Amino acid sequence: MAPLSPNAYNTLVVGAGFAGSVMAERLATHCGQRVLVIDRRDHIAGNAYDYVDEHGVICHRYGPHIFHTQSQKVVDYLSQFTEWRPYEHRVLAEVDGQLLPMPINRDTVNRLYGLSLDDEAAMKAFLADRAEPRERIESSEDTVVAKVGRDLYEKFFRGYTRKQWQRDPSELHASVCARIPIRLNTDDRYFGDWFQNIPLDGYTALFDRILDQPKIDVRTSTDFDDVRGEVDYDHLVYTGPVDAYFGNRFGALPYRSLEFEHKTVPTPDGGLVQPAASINQPSEDVPHTRTTEYRWITGQDHTASTIAYEYPRAEGDPYYPVPSAETRELYHRYEVLSDAEPDVTFVGRLARYQYLNMDQVTAQALSTFEKLAASGRVAVG
Ligand code: FAD
Ligand code: UDP
Repeated sequence: MAPLSPNAYNTLVVGAGFAGSVMAERLATHCGQRVLVIDRRDHIAGNAYDYVDEHGVICHRYGPHIFHTQSQKVVDYLSQFTEWRPYEHRVLAEVDGQLLPMPINRDTVNRLYGLSLDDEAAMKAFLADRAEPRERIESSEDTVVAKVGRDLYEKFFRGYTRKQWQRDPSELHASVCARIPIRLNTDDRYFGDWFQNIPLDGYTALFDRILDQPKIDVRTSTDFDDVRGEVDYDHLVYTGPVDAYFGNRFGALPYRSLEFEHKTVPTPDGGLVQPAASINQPSEDVPHTRTTEYRWITGQDHTASTIAYEYPRAEGDPYYPVPSAETRELYHRYEVLSDAEPDVTFVGRLARYQYLNMDQVTAQALSTFEKLAASGRVAVG
């Protein structure tokens, strides 16, 4: 149906993060649809939003965002809207009074235990001696203990995970701690992906360009409830929390939130404050999980530096779905409702209740769009 009035759209997109913005761009550019994108926040870019703070430092409002991917398709798509700056993230974890490379690699083990394992075979033998083989890898405890044994698990994973998720790794799906590799070599990069780059002008600028299409209108500070009834549309793309969409009919899905404390330090000589971009704090005696100095990531040269402290919270914006057997079951009940909802497409980290990175959400939005287009269910504007 062609839009008739200024408030008539082919598609309404709820949420201006990666999921919503990529869907909007594809529908507008590829299908010629008229699309309205709304977000209840006063800005676009979802959790990837970056801005310049009052000290002139480029910050990420919702915690450090580092782009990395294995997907050429995602790189090709996003590269239409941004140039890139090479950046490889490195993290140190504070354990037993030392700052040690995380993910655990050969240097981590040598420095922690005062050893001199000098090749991969030696590291492999060291870990094999300590690993506790598990018949089935189900929980995040299983996945780590089966690879490195109990001591490294307790020092690097157990406390951090209990703080972040407010549950023991034994109660979390294996995939959560499996995000962090265990390395036999001395590679100290946090990610192993072939593509590790930050959008040259930042994330918000990237979203500005994705959404800057003649057929896309954007309204921020606008909740879905504000436009229901006011805006006409044939198709809805929903990227908010799936349980909220259905009025928490089966009970609320759990999410983890974070509180960010930003501290700014003068750096008159333009130097950096931390010895690495992020310092992780696995100890349960320290209330925050990690500190990140944004200028490491953005490459900004400046006379002040802002550091974000992350404090895990149960209440607040829903940042993380909680992967576990029982949340999987509850989500599945909402998924059945989503699949039956006519003319609504659920996409993204909250709408699909999946712990996805930015590149994975982009890939999911691209493939969701392709399926929609192939099904003939997308009206051409
Ligand atoms: P979101 O970005 O959450 O966007 C959803 C939008 O929908 C939000 O802006 C929200 O305001 C809006 N919305 C919801 N409900 C409504 C409603 N009813 N009405 C109007 N608007 C609504 N990924 C990486 O790849 N690398 C990283 O380093 C990385 N670091 C992260 C660090 C933190 C602390 C967090 C929380 C996430 C991190 N991520 C990272 C993950 C990344 O943020 C997500 O993959 C990505 O932002 C998900 O995009 P999305 O569009 O699905 O959701
Ligand atoms: N993790 C940990 N110790 C660390 C880093 C990570 O135990 O030093 C675990 C923890 O459960 C965390 C998960 O691995 O939530 C994934 O870590 P990642 O850095 O990918 O988390 P994100 O950046 O998504 O918050």
